[in-house]
Amino acid sequence: MQNRLKESVIKEVDRLKTDLIDICMTIHSNPEVKFKEFKAVEVLTTFLEKNDFEVTKGIGGLETAFNAVFKGPGNGPAIAFLAEYDALPQIGHACGHNIVGSASVGAAVALKKVAADSIGKIVVVGTPAEEGGGGKIILIEKGIFEDIDIAMMIHPSNKTKMVRLMLAVAEIGFVFHGKAAHAAAYPHKGINALDGVILTFNNINALRQQLKNDVRIHGIITEGGYAPNIIPEMASAQFYVRALEEKYFKKVVEKVKECARGAAIATGTELDIKTERLIYRPFKPNYTLAEIFRDNLSLIDIREDPGDEKGDMGSSDIGNVSQTIPTIHADISICDDDVVCHSPGFRDAAISEKGIKGIVTGAKALALTALDIFISPEKMDMIRKEFEGK
Ligand SMILES: [Zn+2]
Ligand SMILES: [Zn+2]
Repeated sequence: MQNRLKESVIKEVDRLKTDLIDICMTIHSNPEVKFKEFKAVEVLTTFLEKNDFEVTKGIGGLETAFNAVFKGPGNGPAIAFLAEYDALPQIGHACGHNIVGSASVGAAVALKKVAADSIGKIVVVGTPAEEGGGGKIILIEKGIFEDIDIAMMIHPSNKTKMVRLMLAVAEIGFVFHGKAAHAAAYPHKGINALDGVILTFNNINALRQQLKNDVRIHGIITEGGYAPNIIPEMASAQFYVRALEEKYFKKVVEKVKECARGAAIATGTELDIKTERLIYRPFKPNYTLAEIFRDNLSLIDIREDPGDEKGDMGSSDIGNVSQTIPTIHADISICDDDVVCHSPGFRDAAISEKGIKGIVTGAKALALTALDIFISPEKMDMIRKEFEGK
C-alpha cells in the first residue's frame, strides 16, 4: 500500500509542476522584502485554498504570515511544511525563497490529493522575513508552532545536504557619546566618540585569536562624525556575532560587549549597547528525520553530496524552530558549486531549469517523508525520542 501511495505522490507532484512553476516565477519576478510579501502570500494561499486548505492570513500578528490547514480523518501527527518567500533588498530572490515556498505548497497539495485518508493534519505555515526579520521567531513566541509535531522545509543550495548546521547570531549596536570641539584649536576640550568605535574594532580584532574556529564577528561603522575639523560627538557601529554552540555563543557576545566597554573607558566616552531582541538560535538537527528524507530522495534517484555538516554555515530563524520541535531543513542543489547564495548567479539559478527541478524534487521528498511518518507511527516516536535526547 505504501509503495503504491508513494508512486501516486510522485506522479501528483509531476502533475502539479505547471502550477508550481507559475507560483515560483510570480514570486521571483515580484521580489518583496521582509514583512512586505503580499503578492507572494496571495499566490501561495490562492493555490492552497483552491485545493481545499483552510487558510488564515495574518497569524501571530504578522500581516504576511499565514497558515493553511487540511485535517485528514487519521489521528496522526500534525506536520508543517514551512514556506519562505521573502526576497533580499536590491538583489531580489538571491536566496531562492521562491523555491522554498513553491516546494512546500506543492508537497502539501500532492499529499492531500493522494493520501487524504491516510494522513493526520497537514499545515503549511507561511513564515515571512527570514532575511533579517526573524519571522519564525515571532511566530514561535505567538504560539503558532504549539500544536505542530514536525516542521519540514527545503532550501535551494549549491549542494544537496540533509543536515547543514547553523550558527546562532545576535545583532549588537554600540553607540558612543563624546563631546564636540574644534579639532585643531580645542582638541583637549573634546571627547572623541569615533575613537570609541575604532578601539572597539581593534579590541575585537585582538579577541579573535582567543576564540573557537566557528565564531564569526563582523561589523560596520554606521556613524562616524560629520567633518574632520569637528571632534565626533557621537559615533556608532553595528555587529553580528555568531557561534555554533549556544552556551559559548553567549560568552562570546559578552566578550564583544567588554571590548566596547573597554574602548569607552579608554576614550572617556559614554556607551549605549543595543542588543536585538530577536536572536537566531543554532540549528538542532534530527538525524532520524534526515534519514527518512534521505531514503525518499534516493527513491527519486537523488543522492546526497559529500561534505561536512559544518561546511559553509550561515544562520536562519529555522534554528529557533529546530530547538522547539523536530525539524528538517534539507538543502537541494540547484546550481554548480561555485555559485553561492545571496549572489546574482544564485538569483538566476532560482528560476533556471535546475531550479525548477529543485522544486519538484523538494516537493516530492517533503511529501514522501510526511507520508512515511503518517503511515508509520513508530517513525514519529523515534523522531520525538531523538529530539528529547532519550
Ligand atoms: Zn538568505
Ligand atoms: Zn534563505
